[in-house]
Amino acid sequence: MHLAETDLGETLLILNFASRMLTAASDRDMVTDMALETLADFAAAPRVALWTLAPDGASLSLDRVFSGNASSRPALTVPVAGGAFERVFTEKRDMAFAPLPGAPAPLPAGPEPGQGCLVLPVVASSGLILGALSLETAAPAPETLASLRLLATVLAVSLDNARLFELAMVDGLTGLYMRRFYDARMAEELAALRPGGSACLVVFDIDHFKRVNDTWGHATGDMVLREFAHVVRQGVRRGHDLACRYGGEEFTLIMPATDAARALEIVEGVRHAASALAFPGIEPPLRITVSAGIAQADGPGHTAESLFARADTALYAAKEGGRDRAVVAK
Ligand code: GH3
Ligand code: MG
Ligand code: MG
Repeated sequence: MHLAETDLGETLLILNFASRMLTAASDRDMVTDMALETLADFAAAPRVALWTLAPDGASLSLDRVFSGNASSRPALTVPVAGGAFERVFTEKRDMAFAPLPGAPAPLPAGPEPGQGCLVLPVVASSGLILGALSLETAAPAPETLASLRLLATVLAVSLDNARLFELAMVDGLTGLYMRRFYDARMAEELAALRPGGSACLVVFDIDHFKRVNDTWGHATGDMVLREFAHVVRQGVRRGHDLACRYGGEEFTLIMPATDAARALEIVEGVRHAASALAFPGIEPPLRITVSAGIAQADGPGHTAESLFARADTALYAAKEGGRDRAVVAK
């Protein structure tokens, strides 16, 4: 069976689009969702799953299942040895198996070839096996299979890119983006600011943090940093505000399309939650407070440096004013 020329053109267009989207995205979750949805479309598969290989290569854990337009992540780990996945990894090629009935994701019943569950290895350009894809589908046409292989390769490259991006940009202690990501995003945000638009920058600094280290030790200090980062993540608008660990016990928050009054409300929510943090088992009892400086940028013409300087001056005023407060820059 051959695809008509128009079908082929359309297929190439979709593949090209999907490849560009996937390689441009650096967020692992976004990459995965996009890839699974495209694979499901191509294979007309009701369910598609991504499995991640454990570092020791002994087991695969279910990363995500795409089914009926939504993705979920049921907890499931399967051993590699003796099963279908081992065959796929050894031969480094896709193979079809009979599906295991009732599994929460497309899962091969055993290592013998069959129909109904197609498994593709996900291999990075270095040759490193990252995991596998499993699709609930009958034997696909050769053209479809070629597209699926191409998508699996693009997914592998994207996942590897996302892993490297995370290593370079995400702070290991708090899970927040690091300063170099903040610098890039802040500059982008200000460059995109149009007349009539506004954005805010917040600089948080934990009060007397040196005392935490000196009194309770560095490990407790680290825990406080982790807990505060969690509070910031919970307190900001998901997918809108961008929280970063600027350095040490200082955190920045980029708030696009936000004026200072709204920023202050959100900052006060974060500060309140931070001061309510309890650290059970830590003696003597530990409480923290946080100071913040907020600067609003109106329209074009601001630089990241000037905005940061204003927020930092406001932060300094908050410290001078007795700490445990937020100050909005003039
Ligand atoms: P202020 O209220 O004026 O901000 O006082 P402060 O003590 O918070 O400020 P200072 O800058 O004197 O101290 C910051 C401390 O943060 C010093 C440094 O050792 C500590 N610190 C920086 N990074 C880390 C880290 O990753 N872990 C831990 N535990 N401490 C850190
Ligand atoms: Mg500081
Ligand atoms: Mg401090």
